[in-house]
Amino acid sequence: MSGEGRDAAAEAGARGDPAGPGNPAAAAGPGATAGTTLIRGGTVVVGETVARLDLLVRGERIATVGDLAGSRADRVVDADGLLVLPGGVDSHVHFNDVFMGTVSVHDYLTGTRAAAYGGTTSVIDFSNQVPGGTLTKTLEDKKEEARGKALVDWGVHPVITRADEATLTEIPEMVRMGAPTIKCYMTYRSDGLLMEDEDLVRIVRRLTEAGGMLMLHAEDNDAIEANVPRLVGEGKTAPIFHAWSKPPEVETEAIRRIVAMARETGGRFFIVHLASPGGLELVAGAMEEGLDIRAETCTHYLVFTEAMLEREDGIKWICSPPLRDEGVRQTLWEGVADGRIRMVTSDDAAYSWEAKLYGKDRFDLCPNGIPGIEPRFQILYSEGVAGGRISLLRFAEIVSTEPARLFGLYPRKGTLEPGADADIVLLDPEARWIMGQDTLHMATDWSAYEGIEMTGRIVKVFSRGELLVDGNELLGTPGRGRYLHRRLDVQ
Ligand SMILES: [Zn+2]
Repeated sequence: MSGEGRDAAAEAGARGDPAGPGNPAAAAGPGATAGTTLIRGGTVVVGETVARLDLLVRGERIATVGDLAGSRADRVVDADGLLVLPGGVDSHVHFNDVFMGTVSVHDYLTGTRAAAYGGTTSVIDFSNQVPGGTLTKTLEDKKEEARGKALVDWGVHPVITRADEATLTEIPEMVRMGAPTIKCYMTYRSDGLLMEDEDLVRIVRRLTEAGGMLMLHAEDNDAIEANVPRLVGEGKTAPIFHAWSKPPEVETEAIRRIVAMARETGGRFFIVHLASPGGLELVAGAMEEGLDIRAETCTHYLVFTEAMLEREDGIKWICSPPLRDEGVRQTLWEGVADGRIRMVTSDDAAYSWEAKLYGKDRFDLCPNGIPGIEPRFQILYSEGVAGGRISLLRFAEIVSTEPARLFGLYPRKGTLEPGADADIVLLDPEARWIMGQDTLHMATDWSAYEGIEMTGRIVKVFSRGELLVDGNELLGTPGRGRYLHRRLDVQ
C-alpha cells in the first residue's frame, strides 16, 4: 500500500526538476493555466513530510517542491502562515441521484461548485443502473450530466441493480472505461437497489478478476424490513425511530456476511459509510487476516450523534446507517486515527427541505442523506487536527491520499509530489469562523452543519494549476472538470 514514487522523491532538498531561472514571464492572465505559479513559504504536506517549503506549479502539474528562494515564476502566491495541502478527493457523492421519491439537488454544476469551495478537487459520483439499462449507458449518461458543468475533476462508480448475465458481461468493460469500482446495496429493496448475497458473490468474482473492487452499502435488509413496519405500526414514527429501525447490529450482521464472502471468493471489497463498532472490529480483523477489505466512514458520523434525531428538525439528520451515540462517535475517530478506517468521505446526498419533509410524520419516508460535500475537508481539519484527534499528515491521508490510492487516482491525485496534478488547497490554520447555511455554498436550502465553531479556513483552491477559488470568489469555468479514468493498483 505504500505509494510508489514517494520514496524515490523523498530525498532531502528540492524534489523534481529545478525551477531554473529560465522561465520566461509568459503572460498568465486571471485563471490562465499556462505558465508557472510559485507558492512560497507555506507549511507544505508532501508525502510523509510536513515542512516550510516552496512549491512550483508548471502548467497543470506540480513541478518542484523545496527551497526555491531564487526561483522566478509568472505569479507568486505568498503562503506564509498557511498550510499547503493536497486537494481533497471525495469518493462518495451522489449527484442527480433519484432516490426515495426525489432527486438530489447537487448536479455537476452545483455539486462541484460546493466541492471546490470546500477544498475538494476530485469527486467520484455513483451511476445507478436503471431497469432495462446497461452499465455503459449509465456511464455515458453521467458524461452528459457533467458536460459544460463540472468545475472539478470527476469519476464514476457504476451501481449494479440487476445481476443478470448481460450485466455481468459488462463488468470488464467498466474497468476498461476507467470505472473499476462498482457499488451494490444490501438493502433498499423498494427503491430497486437491493442485491442478494449470491449475486454479490457472482459480481465480486467477475469484478476482482477484471481488476476492480466491489463497494458495499452494508445493512441487513431482513432486519430493517421487519423493524420498520413494526415501529410504524406502534406509532413510533418520529425521526429517532429511524435509528431504532437500524440498530448497529444491522450493519454488523451485513459486514459479517461480507467477511464470509471475502473468505469464500478472495474478492476485493470496500465498505462504505462504516458507522458501527462491531463492524469496525470485523473489518479490522479481516484486514489482519489478510482479506482484501477496507472501509471508510463519513464526516457526519464523526460530528453528530443520534441526539440530533431527537430535535424538532431531526429529519435533517436522517441518513443510513443512522447516527449513533457519543461512544460510537469516539470509537470511529479512534478507527480513523489508527488506520482501521482508511478514509473519510462525505456521502453527499443533498435533498431539498421539501423532500426531507416527506419524513415529517414518518421517518421511513424521509429521503436518507445529508448534504456534506463542502463541509468535509474543513470540518475534518477543525475537529480532527485543531481538535487534537489526528495529525496533519493523517488528515491529508483521510481527505485526499487514501481515497486517491484506493480508488485508482494516485499519484496523479492525492499528493503534492512533483508530477502530480496541481490540485492544491491553501488553508489558514488560525482562522475562526462559524459554519452554517450563510457561509456554505451548497445548493440545499438548509444545512445540517449549522452554527459549528470552526478553526481553520480555506483561503485558495487550485485545480490542475488553475486558481479555482480565491477567498469567497469562484473563478473556474463550468465544464473545465475532466473525467477521471481510474485504474486500481495491483496489490
Ligand atoms: Zn452514499
